[in-house]
Amino acid sequence: MKRIVVLGAAESGAGAAVLAKKKEFDVFVSDMSAIKDKYKEQLDQHGIEWEEGQHTEARILAADEVIKSPGIPDTAPIIQKLKAQGTPIISEIEFAGRYTHAKMICITGSNGKTTTTSLIYHILKGAGYNVGLAGNIGRSLALQVAEENFDYYVIELSSFQLDNMYDFRADIAVLMNITPDHLDRYDFKMQNYVDAKMRITRNQRPEDAFIFWNDDPIVRHELEKYDLKARLYPFSEFHETDAIAYIEDQEYVIERPTPFNMEQEELALTGKHNLYNSLAAGITADIAGVSNEEIRRGLMSFTGVEHRLEKAGRVRGVDFVNDSKATNVDACWYALESMKQPTILILGGVDKGNDYSQLYELVEKKCKGLVFLGVDNKKLHDAFDRFGLPTADVRSMPDCIAACMSMAQPGDCVLLSPCCASFDLFKNMEDRGEQFKECVKKL
Ligand code: ADP
Repeated sequence: MKRIVVLGAAESGAGAAVLAKKKEFDVFVSDMSAIKDKYKEQLDQHGIEWEEGQHTEARILAADEVIKSPGIPDTAPIIQKLKAQGTPIISEIEFAGRYTHAKMICITGSNGKTTTTSLIYHILKGAGYNVGLAGNIGRSLALQVAEENFDYYVIELSSFQLDNMYDFRADIAVLMNITPDHLDRYDFKMQNYVDAKMRITRNQRPEDAFIFWNDDPIVRHELEKYDLKARLYPFSEFHETDAIAYIEDQEYVIERPTPFNMEQEELALTGKHNLYNSLAAGITADIAGVSNEEIRRGLMSFTGVEHRLEKAGRVRGVDFVNDSKATNVDACWYALESMKQPTILILGGVDKGNDYSQLYELVEKKCKGLVFLGVDNKKLHDAFDRFGLPTADVRSMPDCIAACMSMAQPGDCVLLSPCCASFDLFKNMEDRGEQFKECVKKL
């Protein structure tokens, strides 16, 4: 019996173990950290052996194949040893892909993955498709392949998941954009990160589709190097380019495969970045054969995703927007760009090597105050003090909201779009967003 070892027992690892067991492999799960109770129960229910807080090397090195959770870096000693002895290491998505004939719709990019993935799922589901949502969102692909029988999967793929994919093929691949992120996992070489993202096109055939943002200089530059077999569907904000989907005279237009158009102002999601997300989702649905009527309905009725430019309420005429997911400068740029009111911007947290100069023009144009929410705000002061705006330093969400309220007047907007990871003061970006919303509710 082939021996499969699964490294990391969170959503993807536990799901992969269940699928491997179902396919009658000899399965062993090992996690260096503590495994959440929910996943322990899942493994026990399926009679899968596991260990936590350690890696029993002899057992792991005896594997015929290893399924690695995307959170484990290649530099981990156990991965180095497996590589040295030539053991194949794959991702959960690669493994699950072997056991389904469902059509795979895969979305990657530095920003916009979750929104676009959720919007595509919303349109397909609304149109009555038998479709599952997987990848970084919700239940793992492997678990769904083990337990469900979907015709389509809409899968959000991070660069870490793409890293260990080899034979997997996306029927429809979507690349939203490529901007610097996670460089710490790619030897601080941007090209390594870019190469990982481009893997989404791997193995694609002429009958497959590749949808991409045509205005992204990095994507365009990369495409010159590739001889892609798939049909290409570039989208753009402008009609002047060779894009097949764009905005023209406030009209949202898709030229092919089936011509489609609607008023831009009917789109449920607002902001320039969401225009890109809506274009990518519309093309995808069009290629998947969704009727124009259903595409329109889906694009009009989507309520958005939590922590992404999420409206968090209005108090004494001041609007609050939770964009806690904006953990890099590019994401914040788009959030600020979409602001129509004078804005009090909340920035700060763990900086991933940010260059804030990209924000200068928008901060000058749109911001009337800045609140720095972090343990170490020095870099933020160095970058933004030059604008002479009212500024406050805070270390908790209640203090943050109080500082915002002292700067705000009716008609203003308070935007949490921090450019940074949240781990200095919060459990994660969800916790930061929840606390923001809770504090607003208490005002
Ligand atoms: P991801 O899953 O790639 O992190 P999300 O859809 O969760 O992307 O959005 C993360 C943040 O990035 C949002 O808060 C928003 O401000 C910004 N964003 C969303 N879509 C885009 C896009 N297409 N281009 C640039 N920034 C975007």
